[in-house]
Amino acid sequence: MKVIRASVLGYCMGVRRAVDIAYRESRAAAESLSSGGLPRQVCTLGPLIHNPQVLEDLGALGARVLDEASLPDAMENHIILIRAHGVRPQAEAALIARGARIVDATCPKVKANQMKARQLSREGYQIFLAGERRHGEIIGIQGYAPSCVIVAGPGEAEQAAARLRAGWEAAKNAFSSGKGPAKIALIGQTTLSAEEYRAIGEGIGKYFPQVERINTICQATAERQEALAALCGQVAAVVVAGGRESANTRRLRDIAEGRGKAAWLAESPEDIPPEIRAYRVIGLSAGASTPSRIIDAIEERLLRME
Ligand code: SF4
Repeated sequence: MKVIRASVLGYCMGVRRAVDIAYRESRAAAESLSSGGLPRQVCTLGPLIHNPQVLEDLGALGARVLDEASLPDAMENHIILIRAHGVRPQAEAALIARGARIVDATCPKVKANQMKARQLSREGYQIFLAGERRHGEIIGIQGYAPSCVIVAGPGEAEQAAARLRAGWEAAKNAFSSGKGPAKIALIGQTTLSAEEYRAIGEGIGKYFPQVERINTICQATAERQEALAALCGQVAAVVVAGGRESANTRRLRDIAEGRGKAAWLAESPEDIPPEIRAYRVIGLSAGASTPSRIIDAIEERLLRME
């Protein structure tokens, strides 16, 4: 069996950075405890990444996952690691008020978007925030621009813009003084596709042609998708290494299937199905939260299959 790797696969810069920080802090806390130092509890708000092996490793080092809705009252001995997609500033303030020490592993690209949202909000912009309402990154950015309007897709964006425009026209007619929301901006979740972001901007632009479309899309997702799409031309089937809970990993499998390839998602070598033996050339890709050692282990197992 021959295995060809996608030219771009696995950890993106933001996830790699967050995982490195998590291991560093967890090991330091474990070493401090074993050498008689003060006990320190390393925690993340929700799982650090969607990868079971990394979460297991960190758990073995003593790291815990906390739920923001049920924080302990006293957290003086806690080190709270902020995940790559960031949190609301209000959540950070609540942790600090309880005595926790914050270690910020927010991806620099997400941080830049949070700061932009705060700046535009302070300047009086009406902000449209494009992305998944329940995604941590969107919840975090919304905390920096509380009056933003979240839109999940182009249709929703157009409807929201139409409502806002109608409300503004009504207020202008009623008070004959309304200047209207002259300053309008669009910010998007970093993982949106450029195509979807453009369509969302166009929907808003029908009602607010002056909308400023802030470039917030990260190329990491697109790069992995494009590399896999190119690889599909050279292989008979595809294995995507990564967690089942990871949306970007599942999306990679969908892309391979959309190109007519038999494709499987594998969290570990044990997930490789026996029927893959029917194919001689296998493409290997991996989601942005998959560590290299898992990719290597899956490749090794494929190479050993006859
Ligand atoms: S996908 Fe991009 S923005 Fe998101 S964590 Fe990775 S590098 Fe950062």
